[in-house]
Amino acid sequence: MADLGKPQNTIAVLQKYQFHFQKKFGQNFLIDERVIGRIIDAAEIGNDDCVIEIGPGIGTMTQYLAERAREVIAVEIDRMLIPILADTLSAYNNVTVLNEDILKVDIAALVQEKNGGKPVKIVANLPYYITTPIITGLLESKVLVDSITVMVQKEVAERMQAGPGTKDYGALSLAVQYYARPEIVAHVPPNCFMPRPTVGSAVVKLTRYPEPPVEVTDVHKMFALIRAVFNQRRKTMVNSIANASGLGIPKEQILNALEQMGEDPAVRGETFTLSQFAQFSNLVCFSDSFLDS
Ligand code: SAM
Repeated sequence: MADLGKPQNTIAVLQKYQFHFQKKFGQNFLIDERVIGRIIDAAEIGNDDCVIEIGPGIGTMTQYLAERAREVIAVEIDRMLIPILADTLSAYNNVTVLNEDILKVDIAALVQEKNGGKPVKIVANLPYYITTPIITGLLESKVLVDSITVMVQKEVAERMQAGPGTKDYGALSLAVQYYARPEIVAHVPPNCFMPRPTVGSAVVKLTRYPEPPVEVTDVHKMFALIRAVFNQRRKTMVNSIANASGLGIPKEQILNALEQMGEDPAVRGETFTLSQFAQFSNLVCFSDSFLDS
């Protein structure tokens, strides 16, 4: 039975193994059963699901996942946790623990091997120092993912959900919203973790779209334009893109594209919706200089 959601049991395991938290691995372990329940419920884990958990720690959430899912693959970088996980997960025969860095794992191959190429669910209390590369890596790669339900820093969850014209809106919002529907499902205070993080946390669920909501001729180029815009977000669209080194798009072309879209030539890119970025990118992508860049 899952029992690590109780703080006294977590403390007992940490003492038994004389475990020392490693700050460099973003180790803040969950010690609140209700929060774990919220994550698992939001992820809608069923008994036919294969789940990948990133950073199981001492296996607290892993126990709950193992009771609901058909199969759980837990990827943990810290080798000191591996013998602990062997102990805390010994009652489950549907869990595989891999002692790897998630950023170096070929997840597409793992999904193919463990789930016959069917989509998996990703669930995690993420190490906050690598939230963005993990999420964008999963979304941009060819990994078959149904949904990603993860604990992240509160501000990051808000950025994922933000819309045009707000201060939180940026490249991460658009990267997430091109691939998935984001939804903040819970706010979680620091006292639900051991040790307590210095920041607030939130659980966000990203449900992957079967098809992106907009049509884009070249996704990489659209995101290069988006990055250029948000690197200089207070500038006009024309200046932020014309100034971006490496893009090589002449001002006239940018103005031309904006004119075709019926936009004000002084518009700021931070007000653009995903669909406007798609349209804009489809128009400027045909420029020879951009294609050569
Ligand atoms: N899931 C556990 C819990 O909720 O109690 C632990 C969560 S803790 C915030 C993050 C976990 O990710 C730690 O166990 C840490 O060692 C692990 N981790 C950090 N960087 C990692 C990486 N690059 N690859 C895999 N695991 C990593």
